[in-house]
Amino acid sequence: MNKNSEQLADRTIHLQPEGAYAVLAKANELERAGKRIIHLEIGQPDFPTFDNISNAGIEAIKNGETRYTPSAGIPSLKKEIAQYTGKRLNMEFSPDEVVVGPGAKPLLFFPMMALLEPGDEAIYPDPGFPSYNAIIETMGATPVPIPLSEEKDFSFDMDELEAKVSNKTRLLIINSPSNPTGGMIPAEDLMRIADLAEKYDFWILSDEIYSRLIYTGEPSNSIAQIEGMKKRTIIMDGFSKTYAMTGWRLGYGLMPEHLAYKVGLLMTHSVGCTASFTQIAGIEALAGQQKQVDDVREKFRKRRDRIVEGLNGIAGISCQNPDGAFYVFPNIKSFGKSSSEIAEYILTEAGVALLPGTSFGSNGEGYLRLCYATSTNEIDEALIKIEEALLTLNKRRDK
Ligand code: PMP
Repeated sequence: MNKNSEQLADRTIHLQPEGAYAVLAKANELERAGKRIIHLEIGQPDFPTFDNISNAGIEAIKNGETRYTPSAGIPSLKKEIAQYTGKRLNMEFSPDEVVVGPGAKPLLFFPMMALLEPGDEAIYPDPGFPSYNAIIETMGATPVPIPLSEEKDFSFDMDELEAKVSNKTRLLIINSPSNPTGGMIPAEDLMRIADLAEKYDFWILSDEIYSRLIYTGEPSNSIAQIEGMKKRTIIMDGFSKTYAMTGWRLGYGLMPEHLAYKVGLLMTHSVGCTASFTQIAGIEALAGQQKQVDDVREKFRKRRDRIVEGLNGIAGISCQNPDGAFYVFPNIKSFGKSSSEIAEYILTEAGVALLPGTSFGSNGEGYLRLCYATSTNEIDEALIKIEEALLTLNKRRDK
């Protein structure tokens, strides 16, 4: 049936704002009305981009590096990414397997566009990064959420995963360490997932954006390292979190050459290319000294310990100690209210902006997500205010 000029394409019907942006807007409104708000909702580091990286970008602009670049990225950056990831995972990558984009998100969007068709099923974690579901639906494929279970430190419920995989499965998205839980997928589960991928012949999209934020001291691992998996894996990574470059918009993917070629063409016909000076700053990020990344990780680890301890000290909350990323995902089921009611209450009552677990899928019900990439003073203040507000809530309930 023909659409009238008011109607949009069906693929837009499901699109929703990201929870973090919606809460940020509400928090900003309260701030404009004079209320002090502590921001624990948006997932970005609280410190500026490291100086050596910023300076490389500034110098690049001054040197006239302000023109188009190849769509899939400047060759020297692609080479650096191939070497860096090769070293990180003890593997070999060629620059032809690398595609650079404006942020990591395009390296979710375009590989899925190149792979998914109506009728295909794409499996993703729930709770999980909201763009997974949004992109799968945009491609007209069928989203298949798999719960992450608290009992398994927020890794997949593997029995449910095995039950949901079928010949229709075209792609499985994994994210370890995870947003929103900070949880990691154990090596034995990665092996089981790899076996399923071989058996049912599907692709893996491995979102490794938090791979440098692991607090166990162990190196990051990737499903791509498992024998036979490189040819069916897209590693998505980027600069936003590790180098505090969220606003620069720089990310990348590593994938088999034939897919990289098409994803590069999708870049050509959408964004054209990524900003040239941003890419040059990215070379400095990877090739320059890495001590500052280690220092920041240590800082985050201390903040994580503080927030986990503080949350567990609040009556009615229980919070796991996640191994990675900069999020905690406390269980608030004992309050007998929905996550969004509690999140809204904490924002208006305590002035602390955080997200309901349901911003990340229906399995996030009963949880909140707090980003602890902020100062310890603010974390301490937020903990006190949350505790006071929840005490009042309990008292009201007990009356
Ligand atoms: N994947 C995950 C799991 C994320 O948390 C984010 C950022 N919030 C991204 C991808 C996107 O990163 P970028 O901002 O570089 O596009």
